[in-house]
Amino acid sequence: MNCATSLGMLSDYHDGLLGEMESLLVRQHLSECAPCGGVYYELEMIVIKAGELKDECSLTFANEALIWQRMFSPSSQPNT
Ligand SMILES: [Zn+2]
Repeated sequence: MNCATSLGMLSDYHDGLLGEMESLLVRQHLSECAPCGGVYYELEMIVIKAGELKDECSLTFANEALIWQRMFSPSSQPNT
């Protein structure tokens, strides 16, 4: 598992959408790779913060995972 693959699967991993083998590989990479581990930590913080803000302000947020994927996918710039 390399960093690009790991980062691409992070949001699915966080949501528990990966298969047993895939989540195992991601978990293993996160434990061995400090940068990706840090990214995953920040993802959790973003999701928690977004959830808190949603509760406090009753705002409707876009899908956090989608935002996350856009942040780390330079190729998927929005077409405006
Ligand atoms: Zn990595």
